[in-house]
Amino acid sequence: MKIHSFNIVNFKVDGGAMFGVVPKILWNKVYPADENNLIPLALRSMVVDTGARVVLIDNGIGDKQDEKFFSHISMFGGEGLVQGLANRGYKPEDITDVILTHLHYDHCGGGVKLKPDGTPALTFPNAKYHISRAQWEWAINPNSRESDSFLPENILPMRDLGALNLIEKEVELIPDVFLRIFNGHTRGQIIPIISYKGKTIVFVADLFPFRAHLPLPYIMSYDVEPLITLKEKETFLEEVLKGDYIFHYQHDHYSECSRVHKTPRGIRATEGFTFDTLLKEFDE
Ligand SMILES: [Zn+2]
Repeated sequence: MKIHSFNIVNFKVDGGAMFGVVPKILWNKVYPADENNLIPLALRSMVVDTGARVVLIDNGIGDKQDEKFFSHISMFGGEGLVQGLANRGYKPEDITDVILTHLHYDHCGGGVKLKPDGTPALTFPNAKYHISRAQWEWAINPNSRESDSFLPENILPMRDLGALNLIEKEVELIPDVFLRIFNGHTRGQIIPIISYKGKTIVFVADLFPFRAHLPLPYIMSYDVEPLITLKEKETFLEEVLKGDYIFHYQHDHYSECSRVHKTPRGIRATEGFTFDTLLKEFDE
């Protein structure tokens, strides 16, 4: 198995929304906000290449929306989706499986593109797109709090073009690629867990968007059921500590990975390290 990670793009969101009830004076030292109170977020994807299958985890924002939409999220930098794959030797046609943690615009928008005539096409024409059934049903009948994040042009073509595979329950989708399901951020968020060279890597998506989100009260305002997030974090962190799992952060602009350790105040992240450092550790 080979694993890769790359940052598709950075974008900006309201810093307060990322930290919920936590006062700015605590988070602003580590995640400094700009004059509009925005902070940068990375938008990483992982590739898991088993030899038989090439799995892409999440695929960024895409480019189907209008100028007004993009002006709100101030995108900058990153490798791009197709270019990031190309930089690692993959063409869109090589991808056999797309795992979507959930269907908020920043996680699934790159999977559908528009042809010159304006009709939708799959960015990864040979891939099955895996989504939890709970998230699918949640997203196609969105509540008004999340509806700005569930964009029909990102979502419905996956079904209409025959790419959809709905995940009913937690499963080992492909050997050594496990899908876990969490419900606090949004209903049916998939968290992929990869067994790699005897270690366990968790693509923590929006369960722990930043390394700073390990303390239990650090919960995004976006989460639809924060008390469920709280419980899910608490239970999962015990498992992560016991198993010495490695977290790979999708959104943390400053830290790509960390482990966790026990401190007098609870389970916290270790110092951050890069994905390349992680790969080197495996080679030793
Ligand atoms: Zn997100």
